Amino acid sequence: MTATTAGGLQWVTVLGATGSIGRSTLEVIALHPERYRVFALTGHRQIDLLARQCARFAPRQVVVADSAAVAQLRTALAALGVTHPIEIGCDRQALERAATDPQVDTVMAAIVGAAGLEPTLAAARAGKRILLANKEALVMAGEVFGAACSDGKAEVLPIDSEHNAVFQCLPPGGRVGLGVRRILLTASGGPFLRLTRAQMSTVTPEQACAHPNWSMGRKISVDSATMMNKGLELIEAHYLFGVAASSLEVLVHPQSIVHSLVEYDDGSMLAQLGNPDMRTPIAHALAHPQRIASGVEPLSLAKISTLSFEDPDLERFPCLRLALEVLGAGGRAPCMLNAANEIAVAAFLSGRIGFTAIDALNAEVLARIGQGAAGASIGAVLELDAEARALAEQLVMERGH
Ligand code: NAD
Ligand code: MG
Repeated sequence: MTATTAGGLQWVTVLGATGSIGRSTLEVIALHPERYRVFALTGHRQIDLLARQCARFAPRQVVVADSAAVAQLRTALAALGVTHPIEIGCDRQALERAATDPQVDTVMAAIVGAAGLEPTLAAARAGKRILLANKEALVMAGEVFGAACSDGKAEVLPIDSEHNAVFQCLPPGGRVGLGVRRILLTASGGPFLRLTRAQMSTVTPEQACAHPNWSMGRKISVDSATMMNKGLELIEAHYLFGVAASSLEVLVHPQSIVHSLVEYDDGSMLAQLGNPDMRTPIAHALAHPQRIASGVEPLSLAKISTLSFEDPDLERFPCLRLALEVLGAGGRAPCMLNAANEIAVAAFLSGRIGFTAIDALNAEVLARIGQGAAGASIGAVLELDAEARALAEQLVMERGH
């Protein structure tokens, strides 16, 4: 990792600055101007928001989707009276530089989906401190990402609330060692926790995106509703903490107050609790090993009064069962599942397939092409990803409306 001056200024790049995690990250950074400076911001579309972020945080570099977005951003910046020099790019090189420039200490990896893989890998090779929100990158390329972190001596701090909780409950170093018996990832169960499969078959994208406890981007909201999110998180935990599938469990906890637990051989269970607000794990990871204010309301357990727990129902939530199978199978299966799921969720969000077709489509892609070795290089991973996407797209065309 690059030298982050203890107690000094940290230069931060926020990949996916316009998303839910990106915006929360900038809110925490805004509370601590003496600790953090923004080096680069990236965003795909929402150009007006990106321009306002530039006015507020004065980044040196910004990366957007294409040349039309570059022109739009320049106009928006001029309208806001932003005069400080900003390098604006829209290609892979610009994204890579945002993640690897020698000035950068910390990279918040918060682009959604496979699109976040390459810049996050580049940050790993460059030895940055990586705050990892983009779980899909780890699921599709766990081994390649692990090797890049070791080669670059990058430090990874989990942002996913469950993994951040586990990190806080594990012994120092954040890897599973002697004495850890099990890791229990909690799951809210999403908006359809009590629905039958028949009821699920008619839900709309708006209903799927209305999560009871968390406010998130649309893709992860649908993943929470199918519980694929928890499945991806099991695979994420496997790679992040070096923990075997047999020591990982999911516990449904509808209040989303206990963010996850670690069980030790002596019978102790350590848990991390807090209000469901991503600014807590973001502040934890930004400041680790110190602690800083996040802006999150203190948790009142007396007001919450009841915390409940139950086992997940794998019959009504087949995506979770699929992910458990994939975790056991290893090889190319996690990459294929992630790619199929991204296509299936996008098809559901655009009204092309129903909600219960998501798990059916994922299962079919896995059954047809889910066996074989994992990609050993970034090129091989991207080829596998493309193969699964093509098959999933074809299935959407055949089965969708
Ligand atoms: P979001 O949809 O709100 O934001 C996604 C960001 O990625 C935006 O800035 C968008 O511009 C950018 N982006 C999208 N497609 C892109 C592309 N092709 N190229 C470059 N940039 C692109 O998503 P989010 O909810 O902030 O989630 C971001 C990541 O964090 C996801 O991997 C998600 O699983 C993970 N995560 C989110 C939460 C949460 O509470 N939102 C919690 C845990 C983990
Ligand atoms: Mg999570």
